[in-house]
Order: sequence, then C-alpha cells, then structure tokens
Amino acid sequence: MIDVIIAGGGPTGLMLAGELRLHGLRVLVLEREAEPTPVVRALGLHARSVEVMDQRGLLGRFLAHGRQYPLGGFFAGISKPSPERLDTAHPYVLGIPQPITDRLLAERATELGAELRRGRELVGVEQDEAGITAELADGTLLRSRYLVGCDGGRSTVRKLLGVGFPGEPARTETLLGEMEVTEDAATVAATVAEVRKTQPRFGLGPLDEGVYRVVVPAAGVSEDRTVPPPLEEFKQRLRTFAGTDFGAHSPRWLSRFGDATRLAERYRVGRALLAGDAAHVHPPTGGQGLNLGVQDAFNLGWKLAAEINGWAPEGLLDSYQTERHPVAADVLDNTRAQMELLSAEPGPRSVRRLVSELMDFDEVNRYLIEKITATGIRYDFGGGHELLGRRMRDVKLGRGRLYELMHHGRGLLLDRTGRLSVAGWADRVEHVVDDFEEPDVPAMLLRPDGHVAWVGDDQPELVERLPTWFGAAG
Ligand SMILES: Cc1cc2nc3c(=O)[nH]c(=O)nc-3n(C[C@H](O)[C@H](O)[C@H](O)COP(=O)(O)OP(=O)(O)OC[C@H]3O[C@@H](n4cnc5c(N)ncnc54)[C@H](O)[C@@H]3O)c2cc1C
Repeated sequence: MIDVIIAGGGPTGLMLAGELRLHGLRVLVLEREAEPTPVVRALGLHARSVEVMDQRGLLGRFLAHGRQYPLGGFFAGISKPSPERLDTAHPYVLGIPQPITDRLLAERATELGAELRRGRELVGVEQDEAGITAELADGTLLRSRYLVGCDGGRSTVRKLLGVGFPGEPARTETLLGEMEVTEDAATVAATVAEVRKTQPRFGLGPLDEGVYRVVVPAAGVSEDRTVPPPLEEFKQRLRTFAGTDFGAHSPRWLSRFGDATRLAERYRVGRALLAGDAAHVHPPTGGQGLNLGVQDAFNLGWKLAAEINGWAPEGLLDSYQTERHPVAADVLDNTRAQMELLSAEPGPRSVRRLVSELMDFDEVNRYLIEKITATGIRYDFGGGHELLGRRMRDVKLGRGRLYELMHHGRGLLLDRTGRLSVAGWADRVEHVVDDFEEPDVPAMLLRPDGHVAWVGDDQPELVERLPTWFGAAG
C-alpha cells in the first residue's frame, strides 16, 4: 500500500514528498496539471527557507539559480536597510522564480524515490480505520495510509473534508503578467516612480530584453481567477494609472490574484492533513506564502513519517497543527497590516509614514523582518532555556558546520561534553561529539526540523526528554 498520497505538486507537496522519502515511506504525488506552470508567483526564498534547504543539502542547487538581495524593504515595501544582528547565517533574500523552486523540489523528491504523476486530479477522499481511498477524475481509486492536501488555496481536499476556511474574501484584485513594452527603459522607470507615489500596488519591473513583470490593480474582483485576463485589460488599467500602456505586447503569461485572507479551522481530520495554501491564504505582501508552505512541510514530514513508521509518541502528529496554525495566523495578521499600509487612502498613508519612522529603530526593523523571514518563530515546548522551541541557526563546529549534519532528517544531539548518550534512540537521533562556536551550552538536542528540544549536560534529564519527540527507547 502507498504510505502517503500528496494531492498537489506545488512547492509544499514536493517539499513534503522529499521529507517523507528521507524516512523510507512510499509516496505518491498527484498533480492536476499535465505540465508545470510558467506563471511566476513567488519571487524568492526568505532566510528560514534558505536555512531549510541548507539543512537538507539542497542550498547549492538553489544558490546556482538565485541572486541574493538585502533583507530591508520587505515589510509593506517600506524601504529600509537590512537590520543588524539578524540571528541567521543567511541574512539575505534568495531571489528565485517560483517555477525554478518548484522544479528543484520536484527533482529532489523524485531523485529520492517519490512518484510524481502529472495530469491526475483528485476528486474524492474517503477514510476508514485502516486508510484512505482517493478517487481521481478518471475514476481510478487509490489506497494509502495517509493523505495530505497540498492542493492550493481552492483545495479540493479541504472542501471534501468539510474543514471550514473562515476569513475575509478578496476585496481587491491585481493583474500580474510578463510582457514586452515598446517604451524605452528610462521613461518606463520615471513613469512608474511617479505613479507609485500614490499607488504602491503598481509596478513594471525589468526582466530581460525589453520584457517586464507588470503589476497593476484590476478594476473589480472576478468570480473565477483561474481564467487569465486578456492583454487588453492590462493595457486599459495601465492607461488608467499611468496615462500610457507603454506599448505592451507579446505577453509570456498573464494572471490575476486576489487578497483573500483565510485560515483552515483544522489541519487534520483523522488520516487526512492540510498544508501550504490549502490551509491558509493571504495576499503576497512580504513574499511569505511559499515559504510558509515549505516550512509546514518541513514540520509535518518527520512527524508523519514517525507515525507511519510506528515510533511516534502520543500527540506528535497533532503537534503539527499546534505549532503551525499559530504561525499561519501570525502571517495572516502581518499581511493584513501590510495591506493597510499599502492603501492609497490618507489615513493609512499617515500610519505608513509613522511605521517607517519607527523602523529607523533597528529593534523595530529587526522584529518585523524576523516575522517576514520566519526566523523569530518559537514553538511552545514549555518553560526552560531561552533556546527551547527556537530553530537553531547554522553554526561552525570543530569539524565543519551544524547544518551539514542534518541532511538525513533525523534528530541530532550535538554534545561538547562527550559524556552523553542516545542509546535506545540511535536509529532516530544522531549523536555528534564536537565543539561549537555558539551557543554557550554544553549540549543540545535538535529535532529533525532543527528546533531545539533540550539543552543541558544531565543524562537522566536527556533520557526524560527524548521520548517527548522520539518515542520509546528501542
Ligand atoms: C502574485 C503572487 C506573488 C507571490 N509571491 C510570493 C513570494 O514572493 N514569496 C512567497 O513565499 N510566496 C509568494 N506567493 C505565494 C505562493 O505562490 C504560494 O503560497 C505557494 O505557491 C503555495 O504553494 P502550495 O504548494 O501550497 O500551493 P500551489 O503552489 O497552489 O500548488 C498547489 C498544486 O496543487 C494542484 N492541484 C490543485 N487541485 C488539485 C487536485 N484536486 N488534484 C491534484 N492536484 C491539484 C495545483 O495544480 C498546484 O500545482 C505569491 C503568490 C502570488 C499570487
């Protein structure tokens, strides 16, 4: 039997497929579209996702296709320098178009042995005590132990499970596309700068050889955003805001997106789970959605694998929702705030000026960028050391560096005392005795997602903590 069916071969589903394969599960990804989309939604990876790729030995592939940009300016597009002392070895945005991210994650998942079937739409889900039956549009029935809906904002899985998706509907819509223009580059830049003084949601960004990424507010909110807008609609809206359509022609692709903000009531119904946009949608402000989905997958993968491989402690799989639902709620909140700050109305523009002044304080700037980059997240592991629940940044060791030790996706005891032991859990937790430049602690236990589960030098205390995340001793 298939262990996990993943509905949706976007970044969340593909990341999850790779994570599950690290633990030897049989994984099938069903993707509705026969071919990958050329539409470029996300433009980059934030620091925490860059770390995630590094932790799994994938960063080299991403760096080869991306460009590094400063972190400043990502909160509501308010132009500021990068904050100082950000707690990461990767204090940059890795600019990389989403189709490339999707392709790299697909390559990794299939290299590790996941099966990706394109042109397969899931239309039905039923579950019983032993497993899940998934129905495809062509009538095929498939059985698996678990199913994860990574099928985007209009998730079929979420609807079939009857999971509520409360929040606000789209109030504005934006046209987005790539096209050539006949206007010269200097005139385009000057006109855009002028329009953006009063309309921050307007932009033409040069890509290559006269091709621009065009963003312009739509006239209304459409019923079905899966239907691409015609070029003429772009031209009309460009004329409305800029007085010219810049001679736009020869589009590569055209799309539209809304600003609905919604969060699934639950992430799990029995053997079915939700991740990524299927669980949460929000406007793209700050560039967080793909990152959030990839990080959902990073949190869920090892827990679901532990459940299926039979060693998951009580409640481990449910901790996926306990940990990730509040993170998504926080992202929804910060995007709502950013959308207000992007409004052209006089009140919000005054608030924007005030927030901009406050961001001149480095602490404020850093706090906001930690939110956007997800480096400030602390899961609730109960009281104790200040590192508990936080993800550990990459640090230098006596030999090599921390993230190089995490490619396998197991837990890790990093120990400079040499007196500790993970006997009984050695199949789930790697024990590395080495020195590390920081933090100033004798030893730390990291979960497979790099979050700190224990800090100290006391063996009985360690043995008490190990079962919380890694189950009973073998
Ligand atoms: C204009 C724009 C800009 C953005 N910029 C950024 C950014 O800079 N940074 C960022 O982090 N995020 C950004 N985002 C958000 C990001 O694109 C999404 O959050 C991300 O794609 C979500 O990934 P996902 O895998 O969860 O869902 P999707 O990428 O939506 O993937 C879902 C997949 O499921 C498939 N599918 C759907 N239904 C079925 C079915 N029934 N059966 C089988 N397959 C199905 C779909 O074909 C699709 O391939 C942006 C979004 C927009 C609109």
